Amino acid sequence: MKDERPLLIFRKTRVNRYTLPALLGCIEQEGLNRDYQVRLADSLEEIKEKGESGKTVVGFSFMTPQVMQVKEEVESLRKFLGPETILIAGGAQATGDPEGTQRLGFDFVFSGESETTFPAFLRQYLNGKLPSAGIISAEKNSSLFPIYPPYSLEHFFFSPIEITRGCLYNCYFCQTPRIFGCSLRHRKMDILFPQLQKAVFYGYRQCSFISPNAFSYGATERGRLEIAIIEKLLIQCQEAGCERIHFGCFPSEVRPDWVTMEVLQLIKKYCVNNTIVLGAQSGSNSLLHSLNRGHTAEQAETATQLIHQAGFRPHVDFVFGFPGETMEDRKLSLRLMEKMIQEEGAKIHAHTFFPLPQTPFFYQNPTPLDNETKNTLIDWERRKKLDGWWKEQEIMGWKIVEWRDQGLIGRR
Ligand code: SF4
Repeated sequence: MKDERPLLIFRKTRVNRYTLPALLGCIEQEGLNRDYQVRLADSLEEIKEKGESGKTVVGFSFMTPQVMQVKEEVESLRKFLGPETILIAGGAQATGDPEGTQRLGFDFVFSGESETTFPAFLRQYLNGKLPSAGIISAEKNSSLFPIYPPYSLEHFFFSPIEITRGCLYNCYFCQTPRIFGCSLRHRKMDILFPQLQKAVFYGYRQCSFISPNAFSYGATERGRLEIAIIEKLLIQCQEAGCERIHFGCFPSEVRPDWVTMEVLQLIKKYCVNNTIVLGAQSGSNSLLHSLNRGHTAEQAETATQLIHQAGFRPHVDFVFGFPGETMEDRKLSLRLMEKMIQEEGAKIHAHTFFPLPQTPFFYQNPTPLDNETKNTLIDWERRKKLDGWWKEQEIMGWKIVEWRDQGLIGRR
C-alpha cells in the first residue's frame, strides 16, 4: 500500500553532518517521524528521486560559504518538483542573514534555534495551515535543545554531542554569540545520561563534543572553570558505556584563558585524545584587542606550554587576513607560531578570515595575504607542522565579499 504521509527530505552535506542528527532527534522525540516519511539525501539527484510534487518538504541547513551551491540546488528543485514543494532553510546562514537566505528561493527560513519553531511548523503543514510570514524567528535562548537526544535512532545517525550553546565572549569575526546569545546553556547529565545509555545500546561508542569552548562546560561566568561538572560529564560518559572519550579537541576548541593544569589532568585521566585544540588566533596583542578576543598572546603561549607539559600535542588555531591586520601583526603571529612549533611541538591550524553576516566585521574586507607569509605557511605545511583550509578560505573570503557587494547576501 502506498505511504500517503508527506515526505520530509533533508539535504545532507559534509557541513551539516553534525547538526542534522540533533534535528532528527528533536523530530523523533516530538513523534513527527510517525506523521512524515523522513528521508536523508546525499545529493540533489537523490532529492529529485525521493521527492513527490505536492507532498514534499525539503530542508537545507548550511553556512555562508555554501550559499551559491544551495542557490543552484534550490533553483533546480523548484523547476523539477514544482511550486507545490516546500523548500525550507535553517542553520547559521539562515540565522545570520534570513532575508538573504529567503532571496535564494526558499519558502520558509528558520532564523535562530529551531527546536521549537520547526516542530510547530511541521504540525501546521500537516493541518494545511502554513505560516503567513516566510521568515520564522525563534526567540533568543528559547530553545530546549538539552532535552532532545543529540542523535537519530531511526536513521542510525550519530555525531559529536553538542554540550553547550552560547558564548560569554564577543569576538568581532564570530557568529556564535549572535546565533546562540551571550550566556551559556549546557546539556545536563541527568538528561544526557539515559540518552547516552540508549545510544551505546545501539552501537555508539566513540564520544566527542561540540562546544564554542569545551572548558566552559557547566560554567556561567568568564574564566570560572567548573571542574567538578566537567569531571561528572566524563565519568558519566564512561558509565554510560562510551569507550573512547575525546574532550577539548575537534570539533571543539578551548580558549587560552581557560586552560589550567587541573583541567588538562582531568582529560588525561578520562579521555583518549592526544591533542588539545587551542584558539590563539593571533600573536599580536593590538590585533587581539581590535578583534575583542579578551585574551593576550602571552596567555596563548602559556596555555600551549601547559598543554605540552600535560602530555598533549597543542593544535593551535591562527587566523590571517583580519581587517586592519598589518605586516607587524603577521610577523608577531608567525614568530609565536614558530616558537610553539619548536618549543612545544605544536601543530598550527591556519585559517583565513572571511566576513560573516551579522558579525561586526561583515562589512569589512579581508586584508590580502602577502607572499612572504604565504610561503612560510606553505613551508610549514610541507613539513607537517601546519594544516588547515587557509588557502581555500582566502578564495572563499573574496567570494563572500562579492556576494555581499552584489546584494546576494546581507540586508539590501
Ligand atoms: S570565537 Fe570563540 S570565544 Fe570568540 S565569540 Fe566565537 S565562540 Fe566565543
